[in-house]
Amino acid sequence: MALRMSTLFLRTLREDPADAELPGHKLLVRAGYVRRVAPGIYTWLPLGMKVLAKVEGIIREEMTQIGAQEVRFPALLPREPYDLTGRWDEYGPNLFRLQDRKDSDLLLGPTHEEMFALAVRDTYSSYKDLPLSLFQIQNKYRDEARPRGGILRGREFIMKDSYSFDIDEAGLQKSYDAHRDAYVKIFERLGFEYVIVQADSGAMGGSASEEFLAVSPHGEDTFVRDESGYAANVEAVVVPQAPEVEVTAGPAHVEDTPDTPTIETLVSALNAKHPRDDGRVWTAADTLKNVIVMLEHPDGLREPLAIGLPGDRDVDPKRLEAKVNPAEVVAFEEKDFAAHPSLAKGYIGPGVLGADNASGIRYLLDPSIARGSAWVTGADEHGRHVIDLVHGRDFEADGTIQAATIREGDLSPSGNGTLSLARGIEMGHIFQLGTKYAEALGLKVLDENGKLVTVTMGSYGVGVTRAVGVIAEDNVDDIGLIWPREIAPADVHIVATGKDEAVFLQADEIVNALEAQGIEVLYDDRRKVSPGVKFKDSELIGVPTILVLGRGLADGVVELKDRRSGVRREVAVGDAVVEVLAEVRPSA
Ligand code: ATP
Ligand code: MG
Repeated sequence: MALRMSTLFLRTLREDPADAELPGHKLLVRAGYVRRVAPGIYTWLPLGMKVLAKVEGIIREEMTQIGAQEVRFPALLPREPYDLTGRWDEYGPNLFRLQDRKDSDLLLGPTHEEMFALAVRDTYSSYKDLPLSLFQIQNKYRDEARPRGGILRGREFIMKDSYSFDIDEAGLQKSYDAHRDAYVKIFERLGFEYVIVQADSGAMGGSASEEFLAVSPHGEDTFVRDESGYAANVEAVVVPQAPEVEVTAGPAHVEDTPDTPTIETLVSALNAKHPRDDGRVWTAADTLKNVIVMLEHPDGLREPLAIGLPGDRDVDPKRLEAKVNPAEVVAFEEKDFAAHPSLAKGYIGPGVLGADNASGIRYLLDPSIARGSAWVTGADEHGRHVIDLVHGRDFEADGTIQAATIREGDLSPSGNGTLSLARGIEMGHIFQLGTKYAEALGLKVLDENGKLVTVTMGSYGVGVTRAVGVIAEDNVDDIGLIWPREIAPADVHIVATGKDEAVFLQADEIVNALEAQGIEVLYDDRRKVSPGVKFKDSELIGVPTILVLGRGLADGVVELKDRRSGVRREVAVGDAVVEVLAEVRPSA
């Protein structure tokens, strides 16, 4: 049935919503696809439902192609399984926790590894039952700290999540590869530019893990790539340990450097008062900066952490978070300094850092700090720094940490050239979980020899509502949305204009003929709306092909318009159906 605009539950808006920054988000709201209820919580309106169904359809088809079976778990879940895996606590403030009338703890599922593992445990018992892949397309809940871009980062959103169950590593690899291939097909069909990057799998405790990122300047994820095909999320970049160098520096010496609490002030003071004797000037890269943060563990324990890195780099919050997860990183505050009197704020050096030194604070170094290299760093007294402090000769750390910012032009960990940086939006994530969840939940089956073995799992997600958001951001111009054909809310938008009832009768005929051919039609049959408003709405809504019936009908012509190119041409009214079919199904 054609969507008739005379009755369609839709009012387009002239004004941008106040809370929207991204163009696609603004247009999805203005064109009546979605409607905000609260931060990160959206209602899907009829046009939005059409697009959503298309995206879900593509995903469903490709999952079914690899033999995955569709199920649907509840979103409202009991606490116990999440206690068994530790996630009730570890998930942190993103988890929506609630209680029922009997005071039992419940949660709104942010992801469903536990539930799937339990269902398989209770249903299957033998290796003969495996391999198995199950999927669902279902609402997820996460109390995101910063909901953003409308449906791009919601607190309620739809995810396709699937889980694979295998008897051994080789099986898992096969299931993983099948999912990877399916994802490639899904993202090709959804039609946005994407990259597959190595991901950090720390938090979930698995091994191989890759993300599918939509390449987008609006992305919150930064990824790196080199010319050889290496691509990784910055969180997953492993900077190689700088090899030991021969010590060339003389003995370390402490100097007065008053009023130099920042790297900038320190570097200019060094060049003014303590010039190098090799003729080179001091730069920030010669300094060793020691950053102190506080980790908050899920059990409430607060643990300070010191990170030593070259002064021309910063700690990258996302890289750090990925390394310390499930602990959260919070600021090291004045009261924390007060509790650690050995720390001279602005002048902190390795002298007091480390489990065995005065502060007792665990001290981890960036891998670029080579053993044998010499540094200018804090002397642990106000207004004083130490010059030529050599790693391995004058100080030690408790280990290394991959948490410094990655920069454009850094050497690639692949060994091939340098890195370039770009931004992306995570669209999908595939993950070899291994046995962590199965172990915690007792998911075992009998193997060929009658021995109980733990099942090995994979976990795979696609952001379904996020995909609609990304496609919208990718396909806009100044006047509206421009949907790619495969996911447009309709194949053609038929606009009947004017007051002459004959125009509407003619339009009805064309609509019927197209529908008989299986074409989905959005039909602007509104009688009391001006042509100008109808044209504006058709541009805003963004169906790729627009057919306009109006004044030209007297001369036997209608206008066919391509929304993307803006190209319009007149066609004989008798050819309208054939011409629309040719646009909608060019290959047929
Ligand atoms: P992000 O890093 O963007 O927060 P994530 O790593 O937490 O995502 P996963 O747990 O891997 O996400 O979830 C699988 C997929 O679900 C993601 O690849 C993404 O497409 C989608 N997704 C995750 N969080 C949200 C959200 N808040 N709103 C919409 N989609 C989301
Ligand atoms: Mg992820």
